Parts: sequence; C-alpha cells; structure tokens
Amino acid sequence: MRIAMIGTGYVGLVSGACFADFGHDVTCVDKDEKKIAALHRGEIPIYEPGLDELVATNVKAKRLDFTTDLSKPVADADAVFIAVGTPSRRGDGHADLSYVYAAAKEIARSLSGFTVVVTKSTVPVGTGDEVERIIRETNPNADVVVASNPEFLREGAAIRDFKFPDRVVVGTSDERGRKVMGDIYRPLSLNQAPLMFTERRTAEMIKYAANAFLATKITFINEIADLSEKAGANVQEVARGIGLDNRIGTKFLHAGPGFGGSCFPKDTKALIKIAQDYDVSLRIVESVLAVNENRKRAMARKVSQALGGNLRGKTVAVLGLTFKPDTDDMRDAPSIPLVTGLIDMGAKVKAFDPVGMEQAKSELPDITYCEDAYSCAQGADALVIVTEWVQFRALDLDRLKTVMAQPVVVDLRNIYRPEEMEAAGFTYDSIGRPPVQ
Ligand code: NAD
Repeated sequence: MRIAMIGTGYVGLVSGACFADFGHDVTCVDKDEKKIAALHRGEIPIYEPGLDELVATNVKAKRLDFTTDLSKPVADADAVFIAVGTPSRRGDGHADLSYVYAAAKEIARSLSGFTVVVTKSTVPVGTGDEVERIIRETNPNADVVVASNPEFLREGAAIRDFKFPDRVVVGTSDERGRKVMGDIYRPLSLNQAPLMFTERRTAEMIKYAANAFLATKITFINEIADLSEKAGANVQEVARGIGLDNRIGTKFLHAGPGFGGSCFPKDTKALIKIAQDYDVSLRIVESVLAVNENRKRAMARKVSQALGGNLRGKTVAVLGLTFKPDTDDMRDAPSIPLVTGLIDMGAKVKAFDPVGMEQAKSELPDITYCEDAYSCAQGADALVIVTEWVQFRALDLDRLKTVMAQPVVVDLRNIYRPEEMEAAGFTYDSIGRPPVQ
C-alpha cells in the first residue's frame, strides 16, 4: 500500500515509520521545513526510544521518505493519514481543528484515483463529516472515503504500542474503505491485534472516552492517595489491592503529581466541550479535570510544607521535567505549574532532566539547568522527584546527602521506600504513604 502521512510529529513519524516497517511505501509530510530537513539529514526531531533505528532502516530500504510538499504523495496514495496537532483552542478549550481542516483542503486538491483519507489526529465526534464536506466542496470529483482511525500509542513506548496494540479502531462503514484499512493493518494480525470496525462517529468517540477513562483512573487514585496520607494507609498497597481485581486492573493506578502531557488535559477539556454542545453534562470528567488542575499547584505547597511552610530564600532541586520518562515532550507537564508555584513562593529552582531540558527552557526560562542529578542537588534545601526517569531510581543517597544543604526529599512518584530514605538520614515525603513510625 502507498501511504501519505500528513503531519510528522510524535504520532505521524512513529506511525509512518511503523507502517513502512510493515512493508508499505510511506511518505511523511510536514509543513515544518526544519523538521523535514533534519529528517533528510538522518536526525530525529523528537526523542522516542528506538525511533532513530526504525527510521534509518526504512529510509535505507526506500520504503520511507519525507517532504514538505504533499501533492505527489497524496496523488499516489491509497490512504492519506491526517496526523496534525489538535491542541486546545485558546480561550475556550475546544479542540482546535484548524490544522485538520487546512490539511483536508490541501489534500483534496491533490487527490487522484480512489483514496481513503483517514483522521489519525484525536478529533471531536463529527469532525470526519466536516473533513468529508471540505474535500467534496474543494474537489467534487474526488473518489474518496473518509475514515477515522484514532491512535492510542503512548510516548516513550510508542513503537511497541503501535506494533503490538491492544486494538486498532477503524471508523468507516464503506466497504472499499474497510478493505484498504484492513490491508494496511493486516501485518498486525500476526500480533493478535483485534481490528475493530465501527461507524466513523463511534470511532471518534472511542478515543476521547478512552482518554477520559484513563484520566479518571489516575485522578481517582490520586484522591485516594490524599486520603491515605491523612488516614495512615499506604496508597501503593491500596492500588495493588484493588488493581488485582480483574474488573479494575493494575494499570494507571500510580498516585503522583497529577496527569499532564499532550493528550489527557486537552482531550478531557475537549470532551467536556463536545458534551456541552450536545447539552449533556459529563460531571465525572469535569471533576477529574478540576481536581487535576488543583493538584498540580498543590504539589508546590507540599514541597513548601516539607521545608516548614516557607520557601523564601530556599533552593529547590527538581529532578525530571518532562510529563513522563522516555520522552522530551513538555506539553502540559506537571513540572510547569509545580516549578512556577515554587518560584511564586520565593524559592530558587534548579532542575535536571535527561532529555527534556531544551524543550523546557522556553516554558521555564527562570530556573537554573544542571548537568546531572548531583549538580542539581548541590546546595539544595529540598530535592523533588517529579518524573520517574530510570536515572533517578538508584541515586547514590550518601552522595546526595553530602551535596545537599538539607537532606529533604519529596518524591512525587513514590520511587523510593520511606524506610530506606529514613535509614539514609533523609526527611522524606511521598504521595499517599504514611511516614515511617
Ligand atoms: P505534533 O505537534 O507532534 O505533530 C503535528 C505535526 O503536524 C507538526 O509537526 C506540524 O508541523 C504538522 N502540521 C500541522 N499542519 C500541517 C499541514 N497542514 N501539513 C503538514 N503538516 C502539518 O502532534 P502529535 O503529538 O503527533 O499529535 C498529533 C495528533 O495525534 C493530535 O491530534 C493528538 O491528540 C493525537 N495523539 C497524540 C498522541 C501522543 O502521544 N502525542 C497519542 C495519540 C494521539
């Protein structure tokens, strides 16, 4: 199959490279000339484990290439995937569909022969109808089917998620569309991935419902963590105790500083807005969003409490800035409101992140960036673990204690054991776990 991937970001580049690896001929298109020039030089514009080798192998095999001009790849394609961004619209929180609609218009002008146009971007219910309308208005002769194929990959594990998905959802009731999508995803049948066909609107809804459910799970355990902390229970054991029930499941039950990233915050917001347009109130999702927003700044107060309630003149070292490990993505990272809160309370902030510091500099310009965990901890009154990078899981505690001004650690990811930290001479606070008796 010949595939054109419009938008070569976290989703487009991973999906394009994986489709090429399945044996399809893929051209990834992006408006960002710098991105395409970097890819032509063999550089990967994002950090995603394994992506450099995957791209290099498929470029070498001539199954994957890159361009800023969509006309030829779209004209030649059996399927054109739209994988452009759908950020929160400034001011009202609706999904900003301007990039999707602009791409649809451009695609329409270049279509030739039967083509399936597929929205891979996360888009509100009914967007496929509008994409179809735009294409038919721009190019009334186009022989086109518009399908929805939401993406569920997670940054940091994107290639594995793409190649071994729990399911692939394809929204189209058109037989020719189903055939093309079935051919594209056939290699995954070897990996036992169920290919689920639905109506287009249902597929669009599945993506938002999935993200809202996962965000709810995280927020639920975060609230149980707060209660556990006050009531003397251990949230990690509570999570395991409920998660081993198959009806609940152990995943997404890790208490922490609140969810962030490029999807959950914007997608929960957009789902609430979609529901309002249909006069439906999604009170659970509304609460999830509100609770999560409060939580992120509350983490700064937690750090302040660990230092006796006053951060003025104190230095706080922050380990981890990206919203999760194994990505350089800083979009809506919980570190941003945390660090801003610390600065507002008068603290000086130093930070280290294994790959996210370049991206972080534009979001957090007023902090000192360090080259490793120990230089970050040097002279600090408290050390805060924000992202559970593997590099932070086995720190040399003696060395840490020696370089810090005060041995205070606030572990927002529960990666250390309270007994171990206490034995090493630290005042240690974490999420939802009682202090050592
Ligand atoms: P991104 O910002 O990394 O990439 C989007 C790319 O599209 C950018 O490089 C941009 O330059 C390009 N672009 C915009 N308009 C274009 C046009 N008209 N022609 C060509 N290129 C254009 O975004 P992302 O994180 O890859 O997300 C893309 C979509 O996938 C979003 O809807 C997102 O919600 C969804 N999604 C993201 C993830 C994730 O983990 N990042 C997971 C699942 C779904």
